[in-house]
Amino acid sequence: MRPAARILLPALLLCLLCSVPARAYVRFGVENHGAAPDPAFVENITTLIADIHKAFISALRLRVTSDVHVTLKFYKERDEYEKDAKGLRGWNYVNAIPPAFYRHQPMEIWAVDSPDRELLRQQVLHESTHMFVHNLSENCPIWIHEGLAEAFQGAVLRNGSFFLRPYLPRDRITKDQVQQGQLPDLAATIDMTRDDWQRMDDSGQPVRAHSWSVCWFLLSSPEGRQLLNDLIRAHQPGRRPEKSSALVDRYWRGGSKALDAAWRAWIPGQRAAMPLDIPNPEEPSLTTLIR
Ligand SMILES: [Zn+2]
Repeated sequence: MRPAARILLPALLLCLLCSVPARAYVRFGVENHGAAPDPAFVENITTLIADIHKAFISALRLRVTSDVHVTLKFYKERDEYEKDAKGLRGWNYVNAIPPAFYRHQPMEIWAVDSPDRELLRQQVLHESTHMFVHNLSENCPIWIHEGLAEAFQGAVLRNGSFFLRPYLPRDRITKDQVQQGQLPDLAATIDMTRDDWQRMDDSGQPVRAHSWSVCWFLLSSPEGRQLLNDLIRAHQPGRRPEKSSALVDRYWRGGSKALDAAWRAWIPGQRAAMPLDIPNPEEPSLTTLIR
């Protein structure tokens, strides 16, 4: 081999390798603790979680760690679920243990099995979305965390396409509040601390409805998705914490006042299922049944 070829060939090979787009995938392990969800349900739910992962990458253009391994843990007995959950290191639930939760290291979704498959599916998709957001940005503001989790929990596959179904009771609350002139300022909603948000949620204030509504509004346009991308990236490790309204002022044309006005004007409209453009939505994920 001539000296020039000795350098050029490996360089060419390297270029070829780099030009093949990296294929991010989610590999699943399923642990059944006495519960026995049927294979069709497991396949549907793992396909949807993988689709949420794809939506983060292609619709929100966020770099979710590729080659993710997620373990789904389904428990039959609530007592065993709570005992194992309380045994986890770093356990920090002060109140009652929720019927499903996520961990991000390792990436796990825990859930108590339920005969209500739609409920169980939504709980698992909700927690999976939290897990992906957490992986991207540990300090992500709670309105984005909960708003996106409630948007993606309604994910479905229809005629080969991936859709999010709107959470209509949340939408109803914001519509009523706009009509009655009771909807709070956008800045007040998005700048709330995690503790205040949780306190208001516990006391029955509609902070979940506001968070869902702002996130759904943003997901429904390319500019909005870009803003979600900017906001999540602004909270990644190593970045100085900033208020969401200050970030909106920087990244949204017209700032948070303009976003507030656009959100208010949008609320009275009709909500429909939202298609998200992702590659191969029906492609089954790699699933390993553990036990
Ligand atoms: Zn949540």
